[in-house]
Amino acid sequence: MPTLFERIISGEIPAERVYEDAHCVAFRDIAPQAPTHVLVVPRKPVTSLDGDLSMELAGHLLFAARTVARQEGLMDGYRVVINCGADGGQSVDHLHLHVMGGRQMDWPPG
Ligand code: AMP
Repeated sequence: MPTLFERIISGEIPAERVYEDAHCVAFRDIAPQAPTHVLVVPRKPVTSLDGDLSMELAGHLLFAARTVARQEGLMDGYRVVINCGADGGQSVDHLHLHVMGGRQMDWPPG
């Protein structure tokens, strides 16, 4: 059964894409928690940060998050978040990086 994000990547479920390359796709979060809130998702259906993830793909995703932040004009900074597993608050079992910005982010997170 394909994950929600595989269905977005394939185009079956619509999303507003802002970036894509050979290894990942980035699209706007449906419930944004900041003025800019984009999810960077590997095309490969890796379940989580704790899943079948190479160092190469991990680095690629981080650089893609940086590219998205620059593209979105987040000149004053931004936050990149990976929720991992139940205690981490992960709700979709397909690795994704949240790129959030456009407001002052709080710390500590909830
Ligand atoms: P997480 O809780 O870290 O697993 O993040 C999952 C994220 O996916 C949440 O921020 C949701 O708002 C987002 N989301 C769920 N469904 C969609 C969708 N159809 N399109 C875009 N983002 C979605």
